[in-house]
Amino acid sequence: MTRPVAETIVNFSGTARRVLAPNPSPARLEGTNSFLLQAPGSRSVVVVDPGPSDSAHLDRLCSAGRVELILITHRHSDHVEAMNELADRTGAPVRAKAGEFCRDADPLGDGEVIRAAGIRILSLDTPGHTGDSVCFQLPDDRVVVPGGGEFGVVLTGDTVLGRGSTAISPHGGGTIGDFLRSLKKLERLGGMVGLPGHGSLIPDLAATCERQSLRRRERLTQMVAFLDGLGVPLSTDDETVALIVDHFNAGLDPALRRAAEASARAQLIHLVEENDAAQRALEES
Ligand SMILES: [Zn+2]
Repeated sequence: MTRPVAETIVNFSGTARRVLAPNPSPARLEGTNSFLLQAPGSRSVVVVDPGPSDSAHLDRLCSAGRVELILITHRHSDHVEAMNELADRTGAPVRAKAGEFCRDADPLGDGEVIRAAGIRILSLDTPGHTGDSVCFQLPDDRVVVPGGGEFGVVLTGDTVLGRGSTAISPHGGGTIGDFLRSLKKLERLGGMVGLPGHGSLIPDLAATCERQSLRRRERLTQMVAFLDGLGVPLSTDDETVALIVDHFNAGLDPALRRAAEASARAQLIHLVEENDAAQRALEES
């Protein structure tokens, strides 16, 4: 079913517009958010995350002006699948943290300021969801929140979603330790709204990051207590992963089981590493 353009393209801020891709699922919420960035009056545009290979979606991405640059928040296919198609169609270079997702351009540097489509885009390394996850801050943009003053704008990819918690993807190089550090990095940016890769605008990014980080730490403590209570040693084997998912994700939509297992494994890897480090420190003291 084709949705009217008015529903799929939303002006989130002065320079960023969301173009919702038609790929909803339990993990992807309403679908992938691609973004168009451009200064008011600019003839060219930056596309962040081309999304799935869907011709109507690509038509929308190409409708706002000449595509000058394509940016990638991370390696997952629901964000990069249409990358080559869009690059072929527009001739625009593609930039990502991982070299394998770049075309005719260099990988993104942490803290690098990109100038395109009349605006500045600050690339921030935020590994954790995957090893190559980045966020894009828009220093020229402000959002006025009714009763809440002016906020800066950050595109968060899948590092922080519009709702629910981010899955950690060990296969994509994601780790809990990196993820918690990245949440802290975003929290320190202060008054920002987040424009996520899935879901709608995050009104107070710092508060959301703090809450999520607290929830993750609580969950790690609960996991240790749960396994301890069963007399099961900390391990990353399949049985332990299944025990954790069955206990902490009871009633889970089966479509989300694999993502929950990957996240549970990432948490167990983190706990085993912490445990080993504590053991080494004890032995050395
Ligand atoms: Zn992702």
